[in-house]
Amino acid sequence: MFKKILIANRGEIACRVARSARRLGVRTVAVHSEADAQAQHVLACDEAVHIGGAAARDSYLQWLRIIEAALASGAQAVHPGYGFLSENEAFARACAEAGLVFIGPPPEAIAAMGSKSAAKALMERAGVPLVPGYHGDDNDPDFLQAQAERIGFPVLIKASAGGGGRGMRRVDHAADFAAALASCQREAQASFGNAQVLVERYVLRPRHIEIQVFGDTQGHCVHLFERDCSVQRRHQKVLEEAPAPGLGARRRAEMGAAAVAAAQAVGYVGAGTVEFIAEEVDDGDLRFYFMEMNTRLQVEHPVTEAITGHDLVEWQLRVASGEALPATQADLRLRGHAIEARICAENPDAGFLPATGRLAVLRWPEHVAFVRNATQDSSRPPAPVRVDTGVSEGDEISPHYDSMIAKLIVWGEDRAQALARLDAALRDTHIVGPATNVAFLRRVVNCRAFGTADLDTALIERERAVLLDQPGLPLMLAAAGVAAHILAEEQAPGQAGNRSAQDPWARRDGWRLHGSARRRLDLQVGTTHHLATLERSHDGALQLTLDGSGATLGTRPLGAHRHEILLDGQRQVLSVHANGERMAVFGEHGSLELQEFDPVAHASEAAGSEGRLSAPMPGRIIGFLAQPGQRVQAGQALAVMEAMKMEHTLTAPRDGVVAELMFAAGDQVSEGAELLSLVGE
Ligand code: ADP
Ligand code: ADP
Ligand code: MG
Repeated sequence: MFKKILIANRGEIACRVARSARRLGVRTVAVHSEADAQAQHVLACDEAVHIGGAAARDSYLQWLRIIEAALASGAQAVHPGYGFLSENEAFARACAEAGLVFIGPPPEAIAAMGSKSAAKALMERAGVPLVPGYHGDDNDPDFLQAQAERIGFPVLIKASAGGGGRGMRRVDHAADFAAALASCQREAQASFGNAQVLVERYVLRPRHIEIQVFGDTQGHCVHLFERDCSVQRRHQKVLEEAPAPGLGARRRAEMGAAAVAAAQAVGYVGAGTVEFIAEEVDDGDLRFYFMEMNTRLQVEHPVTEAITGHDLVEWQLRVASGEALPATQADLRLRGHAIEARICAENPDAGFLPATGRLAVLRWPEHVAFVRNATQDSSRPPAPVRVDTGVSEGDEISPHYDSMIAKLIVWGEDRAQALARLDAALRDTHIVGPATNVAFLRRVVNCRAFGTADLDTALIERERAVLLDQPGLPLMLAAAGVAAHILAEEQAPGQAGNRSAQDPWARRDGWRLHGSARRRLDLQVGTTHHLATLERSHDGALQLTLDGSGATLGTRPLGAHRHEILLDGQRQVLSVHANGERMAVFGEHGSLELQEFDPVAHASEAAGSEGRLSAPMPGRIIGFLAQPGQRVQAGQALAVMEAMKMEHTLTAPRDGVVAELMFAAGDQVSEGAELLSLVGE
């Protein structure tokens, strides 16, 4: 086994590789960009080398610098993770030339599978079934059009060098072929530096079923069963599961054998994935065709780890250091059911547009096994819930890299149990900051088609009416959550003192129910204001009214951030997280972010329009920060007052000259009282 390896990647996969290495006693060297100096993968490794600017092309794709870093740190091998340099034949070669082991297949195998066209030609010779199509070198438009007509519409034009779901065009009619071809070739040239395309039959209602394979340097090759990755958006995977629902043992063995044949045809060593597209034929049987081979560890490999109990990164390290595969085909057993959900910073309702920003709150379900203690013992059942991530609360999702925040992997005795665990795990995943797909994933998991395993790659598109543009948590519940949060804070006054005066949720103003029996709460969702009132009746019961409709409310804190709510007798558990001015409420039926309208800011604004500085609430003047005759600027602090045990700084609503102070330090003032008059400008 190696003594030290360099991990040429970032994010969750770099952390994941580091953890297996550590468990095996292998020291690790991280590389990082300017933007990642404090990243989790740097903390996860024993050493770290700064290799360049934030953009991937200035750092994670700078392979000469990475090789230099490996040599300088005394690493014996390089793990490329996925993406970046993982399928770069030249990098694999350069590692070998520098005397470093590339933890992946031989460069020849990467090259052979790098072009989808060439790979298909090779697979045809190896007897692996292919989608009917043309994958030769002739890319003349008229010739390809004739091929498309021979194949029959709809067809798919695919960039030979494509990846990541890009460089593909579905064409339904012969008349549209020429334009689609030109546009696909343009994208292929721009994105992959190679305009070559192939044309194949567009499989209708297809499933994406892939086989995990593993080879060693002694000529062994096994498969570790399949993963069904049919749930996709924009040809990119969203949920992955194993075993593939409905796949019989005979077809599984056939697909496994075809995948092993594909790997052996290119002398494969290490972890690889053979992707098949599958379609159900008339008799209900599943027919499958080779699509491509990914010559690396795949994002969704934890699904396979969960159902086999083997650590695939450990296998990679053992195989790369020259050991034989840890198991034979006969040793490998499939147990239970696993599903992975890719949690991304993106907005599903806006065409899955990626989002960026600081992860102000990042909470995982309880009883989660992080990858460090998952899947080390193949005789024991795996962790019911596993999270692989490369970020912590407070970290930034930056625009430089991909938008994946984490992978949530669940395991159950059967699919129903795995589904139930995934639903609960997603419910208990609370992220505040950038938009995420968590709520969307929950809807997918709960939709009829996924529940009944009616899977194909168009599932999301077909179910969009129930998956997209859905309401979050009902506002009434969210208001109840806010009320519960504030009441809990009031009952724990010791903690409030520690909180920043900037945090409006720490404010005491206008909320103390012991004093007044009726409290007002102005809640803002987006730009819409909603008026909530909370009243305590003579018998002590609380009544919550929102935009005119009321309900009785009971609240009980269940620990940090969690509250039990009784709303008109209905019990709910809500989690409430304050993020600066905003408050995010998470419940069984979704989440909602809202903002309590800030009376202090509001008072300043109102004062601004009238040129007055008035008290936003009843309280006591602590002091003035400006004197009569002084010229002041808008936004300048003019007075400090105390209300409900908190200090509030009041700022000048506009430029002007202080004419008169209406009160003195220590004076009590009532709500709306003018504190200071401004003249001029
Ligand atoms: P898979 O078949 O496993 O989904 P993809 O071909 O979609 O693999 O890409 C693998 C993963 O590699 C992506 O999900 C993405 O997170 C990562 N990836 C690919 N290219 C890059 C890149 N240039 N920078 C960062 N991550 C990348
Ligand atoms: P990439 O390298 O981008 O992963 P793939 O060849 O693996 O490209 O295809 C990505 C996805 O596109 C597949 O998972 C599948 O959903 C869809 N796809 C690919 N080939 C076909 C086809 N012939 N018919 C229908 N859908 C296809
Ligand atoms: Mg693919």
